[in-house]
Amino acid sequence: MQPYHSQSIKIYNSLTGEKETFKAINEGHIGMYVCGPTVYSNVHLGNVRTFMSFDVIFRYLKHLGYKVRYVRNITDAGHLENDADVGEDRIAKKARLEEIEPMEVVQRYTVDFHNILNAFNFLPPSIEPTATGHIIEQIELIKTIIDNGFAYVVNGSVYFDVHKFNQTNDYGKLSKRKLEDLIHNTRELDGQSDKKNPQDFALWKRAEPQHIMRWPSPWSDGFPGWHLECTAMSTKYLGEHFDIHGGGMDLKFPHHECEIAQNEAAKGQTPVNYWMHANMLIMNGKKMAKSTGNYILPGEIFTGNNSNISKAFSPSVARFFMLQAHYRSILDFTNDGLLAAEKGFNRLMDALSILDGLKASNKSSLDINNWKQKCYDAMNDDFNSPILIAQLFEAVKYINQIKEGSESISIEDLVLLKQTLHTFIFDVLGLENVTEIASGSDKLSGTVEVLIKLRQEARANKDFALSDKIRDELSEIGIQLKDGKDGTTFSIN
Ligand code: AMP
Ligand code: ZN
Repeated sequence: MQPYHSQSIKIYNSLTGEKETFKAINEGHIGMYVCGPTVYSNVHLGNVRTFMSFDVIFRYLKHLGYKVRYVRNITDAGHLENDADVGEDRIAKKARLEEIEPMEVVQRYTVDFHNILNAFNFLPPSIEPTATGHIIEQIELIKTIIDNGFAYVVNGSVYFDVHKFNQTNDYGKLSKRKLEDLIHNTRELDGQSDKKNPQDFALWKRAEPQHIMRWPSPWSDGFPGWHLECTAMSTKYLGEHFDIHGGGMDLKFPHHECEIAQNEAAKGQTPVNYWMHANMLIMNGKKMAKSTGNYILPGEIFTGNNSNISKAFSPSVARFFMLQAHYRSILDFTNDGLLAAEKGFNRLMDALSILDGLKASNKSSLDINNWKQKCYDAMNDDFNSPILIAQLFEAVKYINQIKEGSESISIEDLVLLKQTLHTFIFDVLGLENVTEIASGSDKLSGTVEVLIKLRQEARANKDFALSDKIRDELSEIGIQLKDGKDGTTFSIN
């Protein structure tokens, strides 16, 4: 761990459109909120990419010695279809289709989310609050916004008055939109006639009789608006004004714009110093998305069972593939990209084992300190993981040169080189050495558990070809699955 003040970080702030030198509100402490998943379906690799970007940021900030409180929520109510104020709740819809309780949907996909993130070696956030666990906080927040004159009640629903807010504040400052343009571009949708203006958004919605996810409130039995949840949970755990708020680029508008408006309306101050947005993973030229069917599931990457890929790839290779792009760049998911990442990743791991056998000389011909600072410089520059990876390959070159005798290294520098490589590869980028896993660590068990779960799902869907493939391919690499009356267990040969 480094003393955090030994490095100066620059963060691209979506709010100002500039890279700014980071300064924590409370010296040495960082509050970071990232919008979590809506748990109504399996997370796809696109979702994973956004969360991975923030996992690496969390890891680096921790490595620098900051005390980071990282809050990532679970959206388990209030997120309607099409991100709109009308339509069915995504979770309730899934529950209706599957004929199960909404909370069963929430449980199933929350567990899936955690399994997938474990397989990819994510660090857990400090707090993972759920929207349904914070209904009281959301009701209190709505009361304050109404008292401050920025929301109105119609037929048991409460709407945020965007036009009123925009008279004193700037609605659209994050997404760089003007209210006048929004007015021209908004279509009036059926069922939104309760609103004074189509740009207004719901803070609380009265539940129709068939809507089962409902809670009592001063206005009606109903449910909270999706945007409100994040404001309630972020300010509860990080305060009214905190350091970093992140999410995918597609959440900038309306979700994050509305979060800013709610906070300013309730507390009279803007909530966040640095807004960070991760860019999209695309596949076949289009955004990876559940709704269009253009997606790949992490489990399909681990088994190779998807027509977009030619073979299975380990979680670390997929992780390495994604971190080879900067978090603010669009990344195109391709089989060739994964194959190249696998080669690169293996080269890095090979270099680590060569490094273990290197002999030190009296003197170094290489400037390892300078190289180490370049690794920090890469991450200090808006968490530039591709530049960091380029520096790691610079070290691979050094290792090979030392091995061949064209460069020499002192014992102190050899230790420094090893330590720095381990820090950045394992602690900061969160990669795992596959051969270390093969010795039977928790991570391997976690990965096999994910595969067992996917196999159960395949069987439940009567996809026996896939369930057999998972069992047979695991068997080929020496992992035997055994089905018993208490579920499936595994053994490693
Ligand atoms: P959701 O569960 O739909 O709210 O999405 C969870 C997170 O994944 C959000 O931060 C989204 O911005 C992000 N996300 C969704 N699709 C993609 C994608 N194709 N690439 C990267 N991030 C995505
Ligand atoms: Zn959110």
